[in-house]
Parts: sequence; structure tokens; C-alpha cells
Amino acid sequence: MKVLVINAGSSSLKYQLLDTTSGEVMAKGLCERIGIDGVLTHTGNKSDEKFKFDIAMPTHKEAIQSVINVLLDPEKGVISSMSEIDAVGHRVVHGGEFFSDSVIITEKVLKAIEDCVPLAPLHNPPNLIGIEACREVMGDVPMVAVFDTAFHQTMPQSHYMYAIPYEYYQKYKIRRYGFHGTSHKYVSQQAAEMLGRPLEDLKLITCHLGNGSSICAINGGKSYDTSMGFTPLDGLPMGTRAGNLDPAIIEFLSEHENLSAAQVINILNKKSGMLGISGVSSDFRDLDTAIDDGNARAALAKDMFNLSVKKIIGSYIAEMGGVDAIIFTAGVGENDRSVRWDVCEHMEYLGIKIDPEKNKYRGKQMDISIDYARVRVLVIPTNEELMIAKDTERLVNEAKQ
Ligand code: ADP
Repeated sequence: MKVLVINAGSSSLKYQLLDTTSGEVMAKGLCERIGIDGVLTHTGNKSDEKFKFDIAMPTHKEAIQSVINVLLDPEKGVISSMSEIDAVGHRVVHGGEFFSDSVIITEKVLKAIEDCVPLAPLHNPPNLIGIEACREVMGDVPMVAVFDTAFHQTMPQSHYMYAIPYEYYQKYKIRRYGFHGTSHKYVSQQAAEMLGRPLEDLKLITCHLGNGSSICAINGGKSYDTSMGFTPLDGLPMGTRAGNLDPAIIEFLSEHENLSAAQVINILNKKSGMLGISGVSSDFRDLDTAIDDGNARAALAKDMFNLSVKKIIGSYIAEMGGVDAIIFTAGVGENDRSVRWDVCEHMEYLGIKIDPEKNKYRGKQMDISIDYARVRVLVIPTNEELMIAKDTERLVNEAKQ
């Protein structure tokens, strides 16, 4: 099946056309500056050449139309008719408590995504605009919404509640939702394949470590706990996010720096984490360069990150009563060997031990544990677009039956 995967932001729109049988990316690209002027960057699989066009994109509708036009282009495109696109998979950030799986988009589904806007005011509205624009341009092509939160809906209530008055959960649905669900789900399926064991029999801890980072305990294929919470600010310190902290700091900073709560939260989202501690950068590669130059605060930032990952892994092993494999994925997890090494150091007593030689590889699917380790440590490059395409294919096929 040929699935067009769409990830719509407020002024940008990423796309990939995937063949779900081969997993091949037929074409991909990005529309930027929507509502300002409009730039389309496109790569087809006929050559690796990247094309860049200035195209007026007053709204997402023109953006989608230009994606379709370039896909149909005899030279730069990869299809000869729009009917070759069997379905569209839309990434949607928040599905609240409505969605525990991806879903075929209907009017009712759109209303529920709309109802989740208060939970993700920056993300759900552009996701909805992307869906509407696609429906206008592509008509009856089946469309599926794939939520970042859906995979985590299996968490037991004791894992997702915050210990604040229960009425706030009832009134506002304040609880842990978790994000990066598509990535955690994808790498857990890949891990089961690598290990040659059914996912239902496995206890896994998946570490999605990128600019945004989260960890997930996956028990028998189901999300059992995860580090991101009501918003992506919870959990690990990240590129620019603080991760979890004593909430009393928010009032203290507000009072002493004369800031509103929203301004403090903005600092915790955009100026904290690796950037805030190091004062150098949010990018782990820049931190490594600074550490090589003897920058103590860059080293402190990375130490704090690694310690947080280790603490969460430890708590998830305790929660699940063991672990069969720990998976590292996303930009940092796939590439940064020092993070993997430091996180897994001194965990031999739990059966975890990395092979330093195997750990040298980057960005490649492999088992990096020493041969006799009881717990396998795996590096698995994530592929959220392929997961979205596969979910879309599954639902569209189910609907046909
Ligand atoms: P996101 O999708 O959350 O924006 P990514 O998963 O692309 O983020 O991860 C981005 C992070 O991965 C950056 O901090 C970057 O420094 C880090 N990264 C990418 N390549 C490497 C590498 N070779 N070594 C260390 N870190 C890397």
C-alpha cells in the first residue's frame, strides 16, 4: 500500500510517501513558511537530488496541493496519478483519553481531536488544519490519525495519576499521558523481532533520547509507564526542557524574577535542560565538543542527563519485576556511545553489561551487550513515519473487511 504520511505544524508540513510492503520511502519533503510565503523542499527516490521551490502557500491547503503536484511531476515526482495514493496517515499529538489506538478519521474523530485542544494547544490545532487541508485537496482518500499519546493509554491508573486532589483529574483530565508513543511502539516491535521472541512475553525499556526525550516501560507489548507526563516537560532533562522538578520552584522563580507562571514554564521548556545547565547548547554534539575542551558545565549537563536515564531505567525494572532488553533510539540514543555507556555502567548486578567494541557503532540496528549478559541492550533506529504508514494500512484494510 502507498501511504502518504503527514506531520503538520503551525507553519510547516512534513511529508513522506511510503510503500508499506517494502518499507521504501518513495519521496519525502517539507513545506515551510506556510502563511508567510512558502518554500517546498522535496526529494524523490529516483535520485537523491533535493529540489527547492518557492511556492505561495497562504494556507496548508496550498501546501498539500504543492506536495501532490510535486509527487505527480513527471521528472521530480514518483506517481502518475493521485489515485496511486491509497491512504493518508496523519500524525496527531494528543488523543487524550479518547484514543488508545490509531483511528480512521471521521467527523466524530475530528470532534474528539478538537476536544483535546486544551491539552495540546500548540500542536492539535495545526494537526487538525493539516487534516482538513488534505481532505479538501484529496477528497475521498481514506485518512487515519496516529496519536503520540495513544500507545500509553494502557498504563494502569496508579501509574498515570498525579497525587493532587482527584477532582482535578475528573474536571480537567490532569494525568500522565506520555508522548513519543509511535516511536516506543515501533522500536518495541523491532526489538521483539531482533530477539526472536513474541512481544507479549517481553519486558522492555525503550529509551527515546533525542532533543526531546522519554523512556517507556513496555510490559507484554503494552505501555506500562512512561516518563513524559501531562505535557512533554515531565521526566528527563532534555535539550532545552528541565524535566521533572520540585513544582515549588515555579512559584519561587515567579516571585523573585517577577515572572508570570507562563513565563516560568517557557523558561522550563525552552531555556533549561542541557542548554540551561551547560550555557553552551542544547545539542549533544556541541556538548561533546565543549567537554573535550574542558567545559565543566557541559560535562555536568551530560552527567545529569545520564543519571536521570539510569534512575528511570532502575525504577522501571523495579516496577516490571525485571527486564529482558533495554533499547536506545532517536538522535542521542542511536548515536551517542558515551550516553549509552554511562547509563549502563555499574548495572552488571542487574544483568546489564555493554560490550565497548559493539558500542562504537552508530545509527545501526544492533545488540551491543556482551555475549553473556542476561539483559540485551539494543540500538534500534526509530522510524515513526513507517509506524504511521503501517498503522494506516492496518486500519484501512480492517475497514474494508
Ligand atoms: P528530535 O527528533 O527530538 O528533534 P533527534 O532524535 O533528531 O531529535 O535528536 C537530536 C539530538 O541527537 C541532538 O541533540 C543531536 O546532538 C543528537 N545527535 C545526533 N547525532 C549525534 C551524534 N552523532 N552524536 C551525538 N549526538 C547526536
